[in-house]
Amino acid sequence: MNYEPVIGLEVHIEMQTQSKMFCACPVVDSVSAPPNTAVCPICAGHPGTLPVVNEKAVEYALRVALALECAVNPISIFARKNYFYPDIPKGYQISQYEQPLAEYGKITLQTSLGEKVIRIRRVHLEEDTGKLTHVEPEGAAQPYSLVDLNRAGVPLLEIVTEPDFRSAEEVRVYAMALRALVRALGVNSGDMEKGVMRIEPNISIRPIGQEAFGTKVEIKNLNSFRALERGVAYEIQRHEQVLTSGGQVAQETVGWDEAAQATYSQRSKEDAHDYRYFPEPDLPPLRVSADWVERVRAALPELPIARANRYQRDFGLSFSESAFLAEEAALGEYFERVTESGPVAVRSAFAWITGELLSLVNASGTGFASPKVDPQDLAALLKMVADGEINQATAKTVLVEMFASGQKAAEIVAAKGLTQVSDGDLIAQLVTETLAENPGEVDSYRAGKLTVANFLFGQVMRKAGGKANPQVVRERLMKELG
Ligand code: ADP
Ligand code: MG
Ligand code: ZN
Repeated sequence: MNYEPVIGLEVHIEMQTQSKMFCACPVVDSVSAPPNTAVCPICAGHPGTLPVVNEKAVEYALRVALALECAVNPISIFARKNYFYPDIPKGYQISQYEQPLAEYGKITLQTSLGEKVIRIRRVHLEEDTGKLTHVEPEGAAQPYSLVDLNRAGVPLLEIVTEPDFRSAEEVRVYAMALRALVRALGVNSGDMEKGVMRIEPNISIRPIGQEAFGTKVEIKNLNSFRALERGVAYEIQRHEQVLTSGGQVAQETVGWDEAAQATYSQRSKEDAHDYRYFPEPDLPPLRVSADWVERVRAALPELPIARANRYQRDFGLSFSESAFLAEEAALGEYFERVTESGPVAVRSAFAWITGELLSLVNASGTGFASPKVDPQDLAALLKMVADGEINQATAKTVLVEMFASGQKAAEIVAAKGLTQVSDGDLIAQLVTETLAENPGEVDSYRAGKLTVANFLFGQVMRKAGGKANPQVVRERLMKELG
């Protein structure tokens, strides 16, 4: 029997507003901020306190909902999701249930098999929980857990898809596109290792041709694309094994064990009625005017997928190259400005920006938004290479220098005398000298050991202080070697 995977995703995105969802506490970095320093009676769940909706969080949510082409509900309802856990001080989470902020969206992905449309079922607002740290002391002491409420009440967006995915690859492509999207919208940093974006895939399989879905398993809280793709692939395989050996898949919630590269059972799945959802009595219905929706829509930036499509069309780059540039607006804009700065080949601009320059940028921790090398200056450097004024190797050293000092390429080349030597007579002389100094190598070349030519080439380049035109050197060398 052949099976087909059916997968739907629930993704939680922390929204990096200034203050929390229902109180004035700041949203702080959950890794670096000292524990319990951004907490007040509201987010600590003291009796008698009242929540107030953060308007900015609603605006951020609208950005995402509109970018995902959802219909925004003019009235949405906050609801209490009741459960007990030490990281949820009120004993319930304020979420949205029956009437979410937005519904019926879609996103178009580019996968290795072509375009794929994923329908978005709903986008709703809620609040994050606190963070628990489990401690297991040495010796006989009892294990205990620490509670940090800095994250409790941070605005959270949940984005739920229809079960439209049919492979682990589609799931990964979606998650990557969603991350690029929320970053482009200025809603989320995309620092997945900090847990600001958490992904929960629901996986089932069914015999090909069967319409009814199989029993699903949900993997909780994945925060890397790798874990996501592997976890999904693992579950698909496990379900196939269970079914082909005549068993039944149990509906449950599982976790991903990174070390074992396997899932483990956490609990049998709870049903919605276990949470005793009911409308939040402390908050009025959330009203979003058509006018507000239109203002947010009009202010949306160009989205990564649209940007990638444009680069593919205008520059003749592949989709994955285009998507790479579009992933970060500042990187894409830098690339565009380099290509606009004169006659620079797209290929060479792409290679240098995503190669040498990107590694300098990453190593220094600066971004492309305030680049150390102006786009015009990089374009000028690339033109010097294209015109044969300097060779590739020299250009790399010059770029490092430009990055460090802010000087222009021409200044550095002039000051250090790095201009490429293409003078045929001079190169011929260097080649003759080199061959005279290495008679043994010349003999073994002539005896058929052709790789020796590379060594001799290197020697000539060294004599020329690395500045010789490599093509001229190579031609001359081959001629002399005969
Ligand atoms: P639950 O109430 O268990 O959270 P939902 O029906 O709300 O389940 O769906 C949660 C997610 O699971 C959605 O993304 C949905 O597309 C997906 N989903 C629902 N049924 C299946 C299934 N049989 N196989 C795979 N994914 C599913
Ligand atoms: Mg679920
Ligand atoms: Zn607070």
